[in-house]
Amino acid sequence: MDNTISKNLQEIQERIQKAAEECGRDPQSIRLVAVSKTKPAEMLRQAAAAGATIFGENYIQEAREKIAELESLDVEWHFIGHLQSNKAKYAVPLFSLIHSVDSFKLAGEIDKQAAKAGKIQDILVQVNISGEETKSGTADEEAATLVKEISALENVRVKGLMTMPPFFDDPDRARPFFRRLRELAQAIQNKGFKNVSMEELSMGMTGDFEAAIEEGATLVRVGTAIFGARNYN
Ligand SMILES: *Cc1c(COP(=O)(O)O)cnc(C)c1O
Repeated sequence: MDNTISKNLQEIQERIQKAAEECGRDPQSIRLVAVSKTKPAEMLRQAAAAGATIFGENYIQEAREKIAELESLDVEWHFIGHLQSNKAKYAVPLFSLIHSVDSFKLAGEIDKQAAKAGKIQDILVQVNISGEETKSGTADEEAATLVKEISALENVRVKGLMTMPPFFDDPDRARPFFRRLRELAQAIQNKGFKNVSMEELSMGMTGDFEAAIEEGATLVRVGTAIFGARNYN
């Protein structure tokens, strides 16, 4: 059997551990989200057998099919893509954490669906630190207000923040964006909104997860380095 995924996963886990140790962090405080968008269920099965415990998916329809097929796996599913409000009804029953909430409208719809499902939905607020027009996320200056508004919703819990910096060849150039997300999380934490914690910082991908760990990431989202280049149709 081809064990590329197993090898890749092991290598990423080792790099996470090394990056954590080099900056004096407990490696256990960083969780790997294996980003499996466009990858067939069989590859996820291999990753789970090799120790992956969290899968990150971007597209609702694709995720629904794979999650149904992989029902027997003891893994967590995270939604990391752009979520339209009218898809919240599908996302809520499937995902333990939604990383990409960037509007009160979406949070309100998630709240409504979570109430129906009898669940408290954990979410992260996605922040567009760079201000690039092509990126999802609430503006840096508006993040605290959005978190405050969401904190009034009964069936949603804000667990932290997520960001995607611009793409750079040199991961050091992404570092200021990661640092800014951590500072923003600290500032929001200091405001003491009820039901809000800033325990999670979702940042860092294949090209820059070590820099993100050094800047405080607790969830790194790695796709290509585990599963290879994406299969778009
Ligand atoms: C696809 C994706 C990733 C993974 O990117 P890689 O560079 O393949 O590791 C991480 N986060 C989000 C939000 C994504 O859409």
